[in-house]
Amino acid sequence: MQLVAYSYLSNLTFMKKYFIGLSLIHILFIGSFAQSNQPWQGKKCAVVITYDDAINQHLDNAIPVLDSLGLKATFYITAFSASMQTRINEWKKLPEHGHELGNHTLFHPCMGGKGREWVKPEYDMSTYTLQRMIDEIRMTNVFLRSLDGQTKRTFAFTCGDMKIGDSSFINGMKNDFVAARAVRNQMHRINEIDLYNIDCYVVNGQSGEQLISWVKQAMETNSLLVVLFHGVNGGNALNVSLPAHSEFLHFLKDNQKDIMIAPMITMAEHIKDWQARNLAK
Ligand SMILES: [Zn+2]
Repeated sequence: MQLVAYSYLSNLTFMKKYFIGLSLIHILFIGSFAQSNQPWQGKKCAVVITYDDAINQHLDNAIPVLDSLGLKATFYITAFSASMQTRINEWKKLPEHGHELGNHTLFHPCMGGKGREWVKPEYDMSTYTLQRMIDEIRMTNVFLRSLDGQTKRTFAFTCGDMKIGDSSFINGMKNDFVAARAVRNQMHRINEIDLYNIDCYVVNGQSGEQLISWVKQAMETNSLLVVLFHGVNGGNALNVSLPAHSEFLHFLKDNQKDIMIAPMITMAEHIKDWQARNLAK
């Protein structure tokens, strides 16, 4: 009888331990899942720094600041740009420093027409066939691959134009690109991001303080902020001054513990994995 009572009691203790153990495992499991699926690797927000059109000022004015701070950016390359034609060996060095060479087409075609009189007739997207657009973008990937050897890449729409006629050309190119950047001034949380229509803030004369306020807004809302530079102290009418550019990059560097900073390809793959894990939950 004593033996039965003892075994009953020890069973009870065992069961208790078993359940406590189970719930501990449960807590640990949930904890580790939440940990592994934190939106921005446990940081408050994410920032991708991008530069469009492959212009000399990126090599001369942007790269030295980025490299001195160890920040990695994405350069959306128009393959036939004047700077690429004359300074290809310098462009080729960017990936060695961790920067991404993104695809910004071969000739930078845009939709012409009213208000777009500056679009050259030979590169007016409204005269392109869907196939020509896709071929020129794929040719740009071949060109970029010859520079950096990479097979995974992201795309940036020229002038934010996404369609030939009624057809979205990126739809047929999802195997060619991990993501595509558009030009809407918006920022989103990780679950709201459409990888083939990533929004971004276009820089046009903002002060350092104004650029930094975008980052602070991203921190407050746990969002992805993509910043798009064209001219850096010249090279394009959409410009940023050297002090504003430098203040912005220094703020990012100084707040790196709270900001995930990466080129678009790295960020897009992170978002893609996160969204897949989130769906599987
Ligand atoms: Zn452009």
